Amino acid sequence: MNIPFASFVPMHEEIRQGLDAAFKKVVDKSYFIQGEECEKFEEEYAAYCGTKYCVGVATGLDAIYLILKALDIKAGDEVIVPSNTYIATALAVSFTGAKPVFVEPVIDTYNIDVTRIEEKITEKTKAIIAVHLQGRAADMDAINAIAKKHELYVLEDAAQAHGARYKGQRVGALSDAAAWSFYPGKNLGALGDGGCITTNNKQIADKVRALGNYGSDYKYHHIYQGTNSRLDEMQAAFLRVKLPHLDKWNEARRRIAEAYLSGITNPLINLPLATSEEYEHIYHVFVIRCDRRDELEKYLKDNGIGTVKHYPVPMHLQKAYEELHIQEGELPIAEEISKTVLSIPMYYGMTEEEVEYVIDKINKFEV
Ligand SMILES: *Cc1c(COP(=O)(O)O)cnc(C)c1O
Repeated sequence: MNIPFASFVPMHEEIRQGLDAAFKKVVDKSYFIQGEECEKFEEEYAAYCGTKYCVGVATGLDAIYLILKALDIKAGDEVIVPSNTYIATALAVSFTGAKPVFVEPVIDTYNIDVTRIEEKITEKTKAIIAVHLQGRAADMDAINAIAKKHELYVLEDAAQAHGARYKGQRVGALSDAAAWSFYPGKNLGALGDGGCITTNNKQIADKVRALGNYGSDYKYHHIYQGTNSRLDEMQAAFLRVKLPHLDKWNEARRRIAEAYLSGITNPLINLPLATSEEYEHIYHVFVIRCDRRDELEKYLKDNGIGTVKHYPVPMHLQKAYEELHIQEGELPIAEEISKTVLSIPMYYGMTEEEVEYVIDKINKFEV
């Protein structure tokens, strides 16, 4: 049996007519940037997240960057970032000129260890970025309490958590502003790049919108030295077709996760935390840990099972972050995660038989 790590085919087959119609609608209208599709999607996504505002941008990276810019984060400032996240979170900070300061995760949640944030706060710290990694919310009450005490902004990097809930509330509405990616592989993905921010703060929403449109508040009037970062009409139209299906698609992922969680019994394998009432997980990826990870990866590949490592090299050991002078061993939990994680197949449309095959093969893995 051949099981890819991920596939868009079942999802897109299910909505093919809608996607075709969306494509036709945009071409017929012949209006491609800053039109009705983006406007409607922003309304619909804000309603979905439970925020007052949503502003479409070009990518998830831009979404984080533009929120930081809107908050006037700049050179000389520091921003707390989890040591275990996709590098985009830190790069967005670096693009503002500020310095990302890494805080270790809790190994079982993969998210930032809230008990270790305060020791990294200095007089230069301006904000904390909470990342809802893998589709599980960070501990937002604790993070918001620390931020309040030290007068810091809080951002959510929700790029992996479309539809996830924290204590009953959707992520994306739990901080000053949240950044979203619609990269095709995300739980809500466009057919190309896309992103947005959600917030209840009108000033942040207005400023992000202007910053992403050459710093313009109205045509040919420029109040900031902005950039070009907009969600185009085609992608917005596709996202509008997909959004009504998101909860169902997430539910299907949850069922696969439940099967994995109850079916995988191999003592060599560490399983992720299950969805719970307080942390409603949407399993953007299903990450297992194994001390013999590279052997497991090869064994699964030989058995036709696709896997991905999220992520094989932690940010502080990447060449891109040499300037931070963080040595190997200084962030041991992020390093441990990078050496042991393996994401196994997880996508809408995976059959029960395929899920069972993956479980069976993993259970038969031995060293
Ligand atoms: C995907 C991702 C991003 C970046 O999104 P892009 O749309 O690819 O720019 C940022 N943060 C996290 C945690 C991500 O997974």
